[in-house]
Amino acid sequence: MQDRRSGKIVVVSHCILNVHSLEDDLAIYPGLEEEVVQLLIKKGVGIYQIPCPEVELSGIFRKALPKESYDHPKIRKVYQNLAESISQTLKLYTKKGYEIVAVIGAEGSPACGIDLVGRWKDNIKGKREFPRDIEFVPGMGVFMEEFKAALDKINVHPRWVGIPGKSIRSIRPESFEEILKKLDKI
Ligand code: SF4
Repeated sequence: MQDRRSGKIVVVSHCILNVHSLEDDLAIYPGLEEEVVQLLIKKGVGIYQIPCPEVELSGIFRKALPKESYDHPKIRKVYQNLAESISQTLKLYTKKGYEIVAVIGAEGSPACGIDLVGRWKDNIKGKREFPRDIEFVPGMGVFMEEFKAALDKINVHPRWVGIPGKSIRSIRPESFEEILKKLDKI
């Protein structure tokens, strides 16, 4: 039988294929991001799932937090090591001529955001709460910044796509359809 592989690989944040890595109350799907996965199946790409940087660092019982909670030198070092390790594995695929066409992250995540991250709103009085006291601002999550730097080093330059999560979709419901269309064009 003929070898039918497309030679194209999409790298995805862990929760795209396993919502159980998300913090409580953030999962929109029972198991995985269904429309995104269906689109990737239609496109005929391989899917490379990266470990959840927050589970690796803070475990499975953590609370949802903004980027500033993760933007510390020690955390960056952990994420840099993780990013370097993944990029070395991906390099093996590129050596065989396969293309890393895109990285799909999770928009708004402090680790995996692509174009948007959360931050605490100014002038909050009393105890701050997620998502009530969060606003989304342009920026990349701490892990993705390190991952991009690691991929740059091996000369891999994919497209970067952020899938809006529950908090962003509740503010801008149309953002999900918009990003699916963007993904479909890649
Ligand atoms: S966005 Fe990243 S850090 Fe957050 S649950 Fe998904 S894989 Fe983990």
